Amino acid sequence: MSRMEPVIGLEIHTQLNTATKLFCSCATEVGDQPNTHICEVCSGQPGALPRTNGRAVELAAKAGLALGCKVNERSIFSRKNYFYPDLPAGFQTSQLDPPICEGGGLEIVDEDGGKRFIRLNRIHLEDDAGKCVHDEQRGQTLVDLNRAGTPLIEIVTEPDFRSSGEVMEFLKKLHAILVRLEVTQGRLEEGEFRCDVNISLRPAGTEKLGTRCEIKNLNSFRHAGQAIEYEIIRQGGLYDKGEPVIQETRLFDPAHQETRALRSKEEAHDYRYFPQPDLPPVVVTPELLARLKAEMPELPEEVKARLLEEGLTAEQTDVLLDRRRAVEYYDLALKILNEPKRVATLMVELLLPACQRDDISPMDSKLPPEGLAALGKLMADNTLNRRAAYDLFPELFERGGDPAELAKAKGVIQISDAGAITAMAEEIIAANPDQARQYREGQEKVLSFFVGQLMKRSKGAANPKLANEVLVKLLKS
Ligand SMILES: [Zn+2]
Repeated sequence: MSRMEPVIGLEIHTQLNTATKLFCSCATEVGDQPNTHICEVCSGQPGALPRTNGRAVELAAKAGLALGCKVNERSIFSRKNYFYPDLPAGFQTSQLDPPICEGGGLEIVDEDGGKRFIRLNRIHLEDDAGKCVHDEQRGQTLVDLNRAGTPLIEIVTEPDFRSSGEVMEFLKKLHAILVRLEVTQGRLEEGEFRCDVNISLRPAGTEKLGTRCEIKNLNSFRHAGQAIEYEIIRQGGLYDKGEPVIQETRLFDPAHQETRALRSKEEAHDYRYFPQPDLPPVVVTPELLARLKAEMPELPEEVKARLLEEGLTAEQTDVLLDRRRAVEYYDLALKILNEPKRVATLMVELLLPACQRDDISPMDSKLPPEGLAALGKLMADNTLNRRAAYDLFPELFERGGDPAELAKAKGVIQISDAGAITAMAEEIIAANPDQARQYREGQEKVLSFFVGQLMKRSKGAANPKLANEVLVKLLKS
């Protein structure tokens, strides 16, 4: 039997980063009491009139620009009709033809280091459904409509993937771009970036597509990869036995590392799409498009190259790119203190862990970029040694303020005055004649004892380099 080749396409649902829903002014906030962010529009009351959220349209167009799509000046919303308890209107408002964006794509590097271009078919706007909550104890199903009407874009690729590795690479890259553009907050655990995988097998070298299965709602890169690996083996086994692959929707169960049938094609919906009569067309004017283009930030790939060029390590670069608004903070700090490595180190070692703990972006912390740059400057000009700077950080992060003033108030300004350090060193040597003799007899390790004593005496403020030099000179004389 000839080798089978997987053919994979993706549909990625991404929640747009808006404060309010797609067609009403209810908040998109998650985690509140059920049904507290609802109104007549998003709960599907008859006669309620939707109004399109302009910010959602801008974000969708922005995603299209970054992914090389054609952004249509005019697209329309359609009703996608189906019945489900979490969809009270009886239809989802989506886009069939034309969608807001068409074409485009993203280049990825495959496992062998080769470059592959994954084509996009389209990006369209749509609203999310509510949520059914199954109460096992009472044997009831409850409906929470807080999520109903939340704006999404669906990004549809062509079936260009040939392995799970390529899919994971693509998802990571796409996620980084959309988060960087602030199109989405991208929180995977909240389902803000989730994908459906369409996968079929065919004999390698042939063109005709095999029967495909769809794996729904994967909200982790790793699970997407595992689900694909499982499905390649399962479908391959069916072909080996000469059994047909049934076109169906499947779910991935991470606990058992397998996919399971959810519903077959026979039960599939006929959505009877038709233009949503209550909404005007979505219009992206050339002026709006020009403004969005002008506002487009550097994309992750470009930022990465620049930061490496500026002397940051690959690890630091990855951390900065991974955290929301961290690069923005870094760039602002650099305007005041042009020492990329120092700024990056302070961010990676101190600021970003603290922000992560408090679940805030660095731009929202009480220590603004100017403050971090000021702290770095005090280290650069030897006013603060590393230890003192790191000791001051928690207070600066909690309360903000001027690092120089805080250092003065705490009495930790570094002593770089050779006279003052010599005076302290002389006293310490005189008080510890045994250790001094050991040093002179060749036990050079004892030097660290003297450095420790001097740092203690100076309350950590002595310039460590100078302290070392002075002690060696005095001990050797
Ligand atoms: Zn509403």
